[in-house]
Amino acid sequence: VEQTEKEQTETVPPKKLPKGVVLGPDGKPCRTCTDVASWFAMTKGASKSKPTAPPVLPSDCPPDVETLGRSSWTLLHSITAQYPENPSPTLQSETRTFMNIFGKLYPCWFCAKDFQEWMKKDGNAPRVSSREEFGRWMCEAHNAVNVKLGKKPFDCDKWEERWRTGWKD
Ligand code: FAD
Repeated sequence: VEQTEKEQTETVPPKKLPKGVVLGPDGKPCRTCTDVASWFAMTKGASKSKPTAPPVLPSDCPPDVETLGRSSWTLLHSITAQYPENPSPTLQSETRTFMNIFGKLYPCWFCAKDFQEWMKKDGNAPRVSSREEFGRWMCEAHNAVNVKLGKKPFDCDKWEERWRTGWKD
C-alpha cells in the first residue's frame, strides 16, 4: 500500500469514521490506538482514492496499535529475560515503579487504562522478586490482553524458552 506524503501526515478524518478508528483524548484519530486497516480506510476514504488490500504498514511509518504492541511486548519480555535471578531490593522497587509508569505512558490510551486497571486487581501487582517470578508475571499480564482480544493464552511454562533461552530442539 502506498500513501502519498499528504495522506501520511494528514489526520483530518472524513465526517463518518470507519469502524475501528479510535479517537485520542484530543478528539482526533489516535494512530497508535487504531489498526492499520481501519487507519488506511480512513485516510484513503478522505482522499477518495480506491481502497487497496490487504493493508501492510510500511516499516518507516508511525506504528499502529498492533505494531506498537508487538514491539512493546518484545521489550517487556526481553527485560524480564535479562532481569537478575536475585535482584536487590532497590532494583525490585525500581522495577515496580517502571511498570507503573509504563502503564501510565503507554501510547494507546485505552490499552494503558485497561492495563493499569488490571495491575490494580488483587494478585496482579508486578511480582519482581526474581527473574522467574517477573517473567511469569509478564506472561500473565500479556495473557490478560490476549484473552481480552479473543486470542489463545500463551503457556507461561514456556516464557523463558520463548524470550531467553530459545526453543529446545
Ligand atoms: P503479540 O500479542 O504482540 O505477541 C508477540 C509474541 O509474543 C507472540 O508472537 C508470541 O510468540 C509471544 N507471546 C504471546 N503471548 C505471550 C505471553 N502471554 N507471554 C509471553 N509471550 C507471549 N491491543 C489492542 O488491540 N487492545 C488493547 O487493549 C491492547 N492492550 C495492550 C496493552 C499492552 C500493555 C501492550 C504492550 C499491548 C497491548 N495491545 C493491545 C497490543 C496487543 O497485545 C498485541 O501486541 C497486538 O494485537 C499484536 O498481536 P500479535 O498477535 O502480533 O502478538
